[in-house]
Amino acid sequence: MVDCVTPPGQNPQPTFHRALSSTTIDYILASPDLHPRTTDSQVRYIHQNWSDHCLLTVRLALPSTQSSGGLGILDPITQQCALQLRWLKPIIQNPLGPRGLVPKWMASLLRTENTDCDPLLLWIFPDSRPRTHRSLDSPLHLVLKAMDHLPHKFDDVLTNLSTCLMLPLSSMVNSPPSHPPYRQSWRDLKVNHLYQIDHNLDVLMPIAPARPLPRFITLNRILQRLLDRSLVAHPILFRACIPTFILESRHLDIPPRDGSPFDFDPFISALVLGKPWSRLSTRSYRLTCSHHHANAQPLSPHLSPRQLHSFWSFALPHRARNVWFRGLHNKLSCRALLHHIMPFTVSSPLCNICQMSIETQEHFLLSCPLKSAVWLGIWLEFFGTVPPPSALSSAFTSFLFPPTLNPSIPAASVFGLTILAIWDHHWALHFNSAPFLPSLVLATARKSISRICSELELDSADSSLA
Ligand SMILES: [Zn+2]
Repeated sequence: MVDCVTPPGQNPQPTFHRALSSTTIDYILASPDLHPRTTDSQVRYIHQNWSDHCLLTVRLALPSTQSSGGLGILDPITQQCALQLRWLKPIIQNPLGPRGLVPKWMASLLRTENTDCDPLLLWIFPDSRPRTHRSLDSPLHLVLKAMDHLPHKFDDVLTNLSTCLMLPLSSMVNSPPSHPPYRQSWRDLKVNHLYQIDHNLDVLMPIAPARPLPRFITLNRILQRLLDRSLVAHPILFRACIPTFILESRHLDIPPRDGSPFDFDPFISALVLGKPWSRLSTRSYRLTCSHHHANAQPLSPHLSPRQLHSFWSFALPHRARNVWFRGLHNKLSCRALLHHIMPFTVSSPLCNICQMSIETQEHFLLSCPLKSAVWLGIWLEFFGTVPPPSALSSAFTSFLFPPTLNPSIPAASVFGLTILAIWDHHWALHFNSAPFLPSLVLATARKSISRICSELELDSADSSLA
């Protein structure tokens, strides 16, 4: 690592001063490839009352585009999945006895409850896995998720009849829009619960499910839905039910019809769009998973680039901006959201403070009576008015603020620091049983606003001196 602050050939400047001693104990280090990109390094003295350390800054001029080695936007979910390839590749290439201790353990763990099943089937189709491996609690969760993240587009896969019978029924039938979905309770059914091979025609034929066949009512219901087309067979199942001479006459691809053993390789190959698994890298994995980005929502759908730019320019500490940013994405942990995510832990969505309304994000930050009182106090003190009903939400989502009484206090800082004060006191009530008193929240907001104003003043004094 190379010291970025000290120019080559010079002695480092002191960064720590106490009484009469001055020493260099603070550094900003960079790897040798990054170091030449340092454009501006500074050691700035700040008053002893603040800190006995200096402020060290460097600027790095990074290439702007990904193609020239700059920063790119990485989808963390896909990247997390891509990192599982080190375990996944040996398992897929040799599912019965993969190389390496961990892949071997993973492969055997998944097969402990399904020893009679082809091991590849468990990896390809989530519904063929034991229930213990379908949830977050499974030790295989990440590596299975990496498998499920790949595109499961099997429309063109050609497979023999015996393999088709082993597939989960949930993957072989689709529910058209406007019809009831395939039920969760049917997830453990396989094609062979409803079909068998007719050796005369060499096709799959539906079984007429009758007593004492287990679940014959359910099977009849699914069969009826296939007949009235409220469920549609997947192309693999469709082809398996049509005699070869009809497929031929319609110029459809003909799957192998002989009694060959199970063959899941065509599925494995389709998962990575025909690329060899042995040559799969994290990069090619990410490219294969790019279909997930097609439906990706923009990060801030309601904010224009200009608004986003001004949001990042507001004079705010990171914690305040963080709470506000999460709020802009509707991701604040209000009780309505927590109750929705984990109803057993958060049993009610009602606000703990007023006990009157559902604690939505808007109620959490703005409209709960005690929080309204805080906003009224802030508005009167800094803007000299009573906030009209829509003023708070326009300030929160569109950054429209009235002018402050004192023009040197930025309105966005007043708003952002009030959000932070409400956030802090809200959780102090929750975790420390400290009562939520508007006067205390106002005092906290006032103190942090005054602090940020002092910092801004210091900055402007510093730049005018320079
Ligand atoms: Zn409330």
